[in-house]
Amino acid sequence: MADVRELLVQAQSLELDGDKPAAAKVMRQVAALYRDAGNATRALKMLRHARRLEGLPGEDDPTVPEPLPEPLPAPAEAEGPVPGDGVLIERRPSLADPAADAWCSFCCLPQREVGRLVAAPTGTFICRGCVVVVQTLLEVEE
Ligand SMILES: [Zn+2]
Repeated sequence: MADVRELLVQAQSLELDGDKPAAAKVMRQVAALYRDAGNATRALKMLRHARRLEGLPGEDDPTVPEPLPEPLPAPAEAEGPVPGDGVLIERRPSLADPAADAWCSFCCLPQREVGRLVAAPTGTFICRGCVVVVQTLLEVEE
């Protein structure tokens, strides 16, 4: 389909020249070529462009069927809570249950010795004493 590219260039220059009806006509030709080649998705895309050039609704027209969405690249890591399970994962520190048999993950002392612990979403804990140490370390760093 070598002439498709030529037609697209032609349509683009017509559009740039402000001759939108002519550009739309060329886009419809391109759409027909894609349709005949069995590429319905691209044909629809070209038709939509033609419709936009003609000032007709292109994107939101319910009579124009949606083309299949292009596959999205798989995200490297899931972001945020997984939708659908109905559980919002708490991603911030929170106070640990005072009755929990928990230990500070930093100094390894139990909650009954160091007082209330702050829990991380990862299942780790930190005590007040270690928070102070951490703060000092981070302040030196800055
Ligand atoms: Zn600690």
